[in-house]
Amino acid sequence: MSSPASHPRLRLFDLPLDVIDLSDTLTLLGAWLADPARTPHTVVTLNPEIIVQSRGHPEFAQAVQDADLITADGVGIVYAAKQLRQQDVPRAPGFDIVKGLMERHGAGLRVFFLGAKPGVAEAAAQHAARDYGVGVAGIHHGYFGPEEDERVAQLVAASGANLLLTAMGAGRQEVFNQQWRGVLGVPVMIGCGGVVDVLAGTAELAPAWTRKLGVEWVWRVAGDRKRWNRAPRLLHFVQMVGAEKRRKG
Ligand code: UDP
Repeated sequence: MSSPASHPRLRLFDLPLDVIDLSDTLTLLGAWLADPARTPHTVVTLNPEIIVQSRGHPEFAQAVQDADLITADGVGIVYAAKQLRQQDVPRAPGFDIVKGLMERHGAGLRVFFLGAKPGVAEAAAQHAARDYGVGVAGIHHGYFGPEEDERVAQLVAASGANLLLTAMGAGRQEVFNQQWRGVLGVPVMIGCGGVVDVLAGTAELAPAWTRKLGVEWVWRVAGDRKRWNRAPRLLHFVQMVGAEKRRKG
């Protein structure tokens, strides 16, 4: 897949990363939404967890390789790009992309909310329709096995959605979007983890100060016991960046 026009593409740990800010991301996705050909596109918001997890998971790594747009979700990626590529990469986090699209396109969007526990995607859809006036193309929870992938992909395809929010956890969501992109046929498909939970109000958006500093994960890890086991993974990422830097230098 070629890099989005006029934006350089870096490689970080053998994964692609587009040097693109939020505003240009929204413009590019707007062009994909407006294209009458409805060519399917996948978006990955790269974070340290994706880099760490995809190393032992070739399908996941391939889904990131083949994505049409790969943005820097947070400060971990900005740090790695600076350390390893001496580049200042702007952030375009998943939540900001989704919110920005809803603000810009409102009723022009037909959103399929895929993922999270039963009831959560429904609440997210209701809130998005109320707050941004978006159309709801469809809703499905994210707890189904691979044997149901095709059925769900066809449901999305039949819905006529132009924006698919896939929130089924890192890895599962990127692989689903990429493997079924031809069936899904949605112009913009984003793997966007907890964004559906935030829209639903079941997870709180990290406070503005952490978002400004790009360290939302500190808040998420600290506030959610289930995530405490992830802190070592982030530390592992910093060590990985250091090791990679020594290897290259
Ligand atoms: N999720 C899902 N199906 C699964 C696992 C997770 O729909 O099999 C949902 C989960 O309910 C949450 C979102 O995916 O809404 C993100 O989950 P989590 O925070 O565990 O994943 P992360 O993306 O942070 O790895």
